[in-house]
Amino acid sequence: MAYKITEECINCGACEPECPNSSIYEGGAAWEKDGVTGTDGAFFSNDFYYIHPDKCTECQGQHDEPQCVSVCPVDSVVKL
Ligand code: SF4
Ligand code: SF4
Repeated sequence: MAYKITEECINCGACEPECPNSSIYEGGAAWEKDGVTGTDGAFFSNDFYYIHPDKCTECQGQHDEPQCVSVCPVDSVVKL
């Protein structure tokens, strides 16, 4: 399972540095996974921060709370 960012995102950038798995990217920025980069995928967004779902662990075993959910000021991170 993973989290996703909705269009309520105000692009504040607070979540990106908090993710322990570097799963969060600024809108339009290329994702990277296992040495592969891309700007494709249903999860990709040009307009809002987005989460690569295959990199998101929901912070399980790393933090008590999903860090992106904890820091988001507008509650724009939800379960996928
Ligand atoms: S739930 Fe945790 S692992 Fe998933 S995107 Fe948010 S901070 Fe990263
Ligand atoms: S913390 Fe929330 S509003 Fe800020 S960039 Fe992340 S998802 Fe968007």
